[in-house]
Amino acid sequence: MPFSNFGFEKEILRAVKKAGYTRPTPVQAAAIPKVMQGHDLIAIAQTGTGKTAAFVLPMLNRFFKENRDGKRHDLKALILAPTRELALQIMETIRVYGDGLPIRAAAIFGGVEEEAQMKALRKGVDFVVATPGRLIDFMEREKINFDLLETLVLDEADRMLHMGFLPDIEKIVSDLPRRRQTLMFSATFPKEVESLARRFQHEPKMVQIGKRSNPADTVAQFVYEVPAHLKSPLLLELLKQPNYQRVLVFVRMKMGLIYSLIFSSSRESKSPSSTPVVRKNSGCRP
Ligand code: AMP
Repeated sequence: MPFSNFGFEKEILRAVKKAGYTRPTPVQAAAIPKVMQGHDLIAIAQTGTGKTAAFVLPMLNRFFKENRDGKRHDLKALILAPTRELALQIMETIRVYGDGLPIRAAAIFGGVEEEAQMKALRKGVDFVVATPGRLIDFMEREKINFDLLETLVLDEADRMLHMGFLPDIEKIVSDLPRRRQTLMFSATFPKEVESLARRFQHEPKMVQIGKRSNPADTVAQFVYEVPAHLKSPLLLELLKQPNYQRVLVFVRMKMGLIYSLIFSSSRESKSPSSTPVVRKNSGCRP
């Protein structure tokens, strides 16, 4: 499905093309039509799936349709993110897709002087990307007005909850207009996120890319607590087990050692794949 099927304004399509994207990613293909129809949404998708554009593009499109001349700058969308790094990444996405559009966005996060952020708010902004703590600071001093807000996005909702932001999120949401579109993005879907959805959303649609964090029932998981120097001998022992046909080993370092262990193990056991394939993968956690 090309981007042109979503019904975006031509200015948005132009920005997508300029960014070099030819086809939507799966989360974009599934989420964008639902967001464009005005539904609340829960999207279970990891970072790296293109999830940011899944909410930024419809948000920009809606804003541009309603405010083509860019004369007004009332706060229309609030995006909450767990960290300053993520907030800046979202800002960058808004900048890329909003290139040439008369939009104003501000990032609000702690750990830096607040003056520049305050100044941006005073000038008037259409979108705010914020971490909860600093936003609450501003709210308590009445530096921010949500009366005309239309969209709330909770990005990486599970991470925000893990970081203890629930009371802040509750406080922020209680200050927002009840009539709004609420979009929630989360890498996993634990019951805390489900409960957040139940309380803050209205009949949300759900989109799930990849698997939920829960393992399938057919997968047995074991944890072996071993001192570092016994890790490799243990691996070697495990590899000798006859019921292991194919084994995928994720490692962080000591590639050479593990490679030679696996290699000697697979030769000893004369397993069908006598040549192990060892790939370095830095992005996986056990
Ligand atoms: P995200 O999951 O939002 O952090 O995005 C991950 C990366 O995917 C970013 O570098 C985006 O620039 C890129 N991206 C987003 N949408 C697309 C697309 N439709 N085609 C190719 N790359 C994309």
